[in-house]
Amino acid sequence: MSTPARITHLIAGEPWEGTARRTSPVFNPATGAQTGVLDLADAALVDEVVRGAKAVWQREWQTSSLTRRTQVLFAFRELLNARKDEIATLITAEHGKVLSDALGEVTRGLEVAEFACGIPHLLKGGFSENVSTKVDVYSIRQPLGVVAVISPFNFPAMVPLWFVPIAIACGNAVVIKPSEKDPSAVNAVAALWREAGLPDGVLNVVHGDKEAVDALLTHPDVRAVSFVGSTPIAKYVYETGTAHGKRVQALGGAKNHMLVLPDADLDLAADAAVNAGFGSAGERCMAISALLAVEPVADDLIAKITDRMGKLVTGDGTREVDMGPLVTAEHAAKVTAYLDAGVEAGARLVVDGREGDIDADGDGFFLRPTLFDGVEPGMPVYDDEIFGPVLSVVRVASYDEGLDLINANPYGNGTAIFTNDGGAARRFQNEAEVGMVGINVPIPVPMAYFSFGGWKASLFGDSHAHGMEGVHFFTRGKVVTSRWLDPSHGGLNLGFPQNQ
Ligand code: NAD
Repeated sequence: MSTPARITHLIAGEPWEGTARRTSPVFNPATGAQTGVLDLADAALVDEVVRGAKAVWQREWQTSSLTRRTQVLFAFRELLNARKDEIATLITAEHGKVLSDALGEVTRGLEVAEFACGIPHLLKGGFSENVSTKVDVYSIRQPLGVVAVISPFNFPAMVPLWFVPIAIACGNAVVIKPSEKDPSAVNAVAALWREAGLPDGVLNVVHGDKEAVDALLTHPDVRAVSFVGSTPIAKYVYETGTAHGKRVQALGGAKNHMLVLPDADLDLAADAAVNAGFGSAGERCMAISALLAVEPVADDLIAKITDRMGKLVTGDGTREVDMGPLVTAEHAAKVTAYLDAGVEAGARLVVDGREGDIDADGDGFFLRPTLFDGVEPGMPVYDDEIFGPVLSVVRVASYDEGLDLINANPYGNGTAIFTNDGGAARRFQNEAEVGMVGINVPIPVPMAYFSFGGWKASLFGDSHAHGMEGVHFFTRGKVVTSRWLDPSHGGLNLGFPQNQ
């Protein structure tokens, strides 16, 4: 077995040369082998990096022209496009998702870089001439300074790309702290920024855990924090960051429901449930985990889903398989425990993911696709975000009963309706208390020029990710009222300014 490789911080473009006080193991989830040893940053190192980023920002990037920033962004876009296979390979090696899925994630991240290439247009302010005699008013948006991005394991490249290109395009310096479970993709993407001509220190990668996150959340020179992860940590990040005067957007967990009406195309719905339930082993914040079948369709739908599940191959994501492993042994054990918990609570285990073949060598962290029927609120398989390949069918009597369940759920990330009734779909888009809605589309991940984000416990803060909300998040508005000297407007007047 080969020695695990050292994975370290990238500070001002260079790998860190210090000795870490603490490290963390990185695994290949398909084989179970430890492949890396990750350096974890302490508060002193975070402080050093933030100060360095601030210095470069003040010296160079804050005042960089839009032309220069755009040139860097276009070059980065080209490099990322050319190297996306390499990045996908790194993702599969540490996250476990199949290669085509990893490539899809890089492509979705690339779209945000493409959106950010239009930054000169996106940052155009407003101008009103002669609001008062010879007085002009204009609005501009300026960068914040050093911003932090803290990302989850499940999209090691795409989630950082939701934020970093826009933050940089808006003229900020960035410190990113990736997930310690699959840190290598971010290092590889950061190297592309350097190659694209971004000045060293505008983007820095600091690896770590709670200690590094806390240091970022409390550092006086960090102006904003973009966080994505589980709901308890998102809430903590939001509360701690805002208590320290920062602008925070903290995207949290999810429990996404798919409502299937009796008039739906059941083959389309079954395909969608399988794709969105088991893609990336259910480790997507937009995965479908609760399927609300409006009777009398449940039996037919379950038969179609079971048939499709029988064709899925689970195994090493570098092979010709449909679904890979879970990210760590601990997470696989946690997800697998829900199978017994579901049965104990009275749900019917239709397909047991513990049974069947795995196409992999070694001792990977696998659970095959699993299906429950007869699931109800109050059961752990329904109430918790499982974040694994476990799909629960909940039988409901009507559209209204299904909608009530969706709206009663504490999460509000994504949801979908399957129907051929335009009126029902239109009601649903209006009535669902969820941030992202699909109509006959199972995982409605918005395009880069729209914004991504949920409601309720799926997002803390006001701003969603990317799109114009991203541009607003990473800039501050300023309004300038200007008059060039004109003697006729001189003189004292203590009254409230009014236009003339
Ligand atoms: P996580 O909350 O465990 O970790 C997210 C980040 O927080 C990581 O960088 C991690 O190092 C850091 N962290 C972990 N514990 C911490 C602590 N105690 N204090 C401070 N920082 C801490 O999440 P994860 O397991 O990496 O990712 C899966 C979760 O992310 C799921 O809940 C999923 O729904 C959610 N997610 C949400 C979205 C969204 O858009 N809403 C997108 C992707 C993932």
